Amino acid sequence: MICRLLKNVAGYRLSGYRAFTSASVSAIASAAMKKPQVVFVLGGPGAGKGTQCAKIVENYNYTHLSAGDLLRAERAREGSQSGLLIANFIKEGKIVPVEITIDLLKRAMEEIMKKDEQKYRFLIDGFPRNEDNLQGWNKVMDGNAHVNFVLFFDCADQVCIDRCLERGKSSGRSDDNRESLEKRIQTYLRSTRPIIDLYQKQGKVRCVDASKSVDEVFADVRGILDKEG
Ligand code: UDP
Ligand code: MG
Repeated sequence: MICRLLKNVAGYRLSGYRAFTSASVSAIASAAMKKPQVVFVLGGPGAGKGTQCAKIVENYNYTHLSAGDLLRAERAREGSQSGLLIANFIKEGKIVPVEITIDLLKRAMEEIMKKDEQKYRFLIDGFPRNEDNLQGWNKVMDGNAHVNFVLFFDCADQVCIDRCLERGKSSGRSDDNRESLEKRIQTYLRSTRPIIDLYQKQGKVRCVDASKSVDEVFADVRGILDKEG
């Protein structure tokens, strides 16, 4: 379906895209021998990003960083200045201002690489989700990290909703309910899909049909990762 549509435009590249400039210099590149190599993992809520990332980590040399998990941890951190804002945004299915998310991502990468400089390959799950996220990434990370490709879990909206409602029975997540989910799907369609399309035009999207079983999807993921190295 959408995977196929995307493939049709894969050869087409957007010239002139790179309107954003790299302003701040991160300590990441200088603190470690290697520049972080990043795979962005995107797809609708419940598409299986977290599940597949866990399987990737078991089988390949990657560290998994979920932007959503980092935000939830920050929400719960005592003394956090952004806790309340994050809680509200998550419940409403809205995207947290990038300054908060990028700071958490950057710090997580720095900490991991400081401990072990061989851990420079990251799966960044659930980010960038909108134009603000992308601009924030480019401003802070351009030149300091390399985005190898985008792993896109393509899944019908109804499958996403059903999976999240099922997950909601035990996840305890404030946003795995019908009301939040409708907002999350809208946010995904309006804000995140255009980001995926933008990467697609740069030939950077690797698309997986995420409506299949966990093992079937992972077999496709393997095919991609084995090829990408
Ligand atoms: N979120 C955000 N920025 C991010 C990642 C997540 O604001 O970069 C918020 C957003 O409100 C989203 C929620 O966290 O709806 C849950 O994201 P997560 O990736 O955990 O959900 P999933 O897509 O995996 O179901
Ligand atoms: Mg997730």
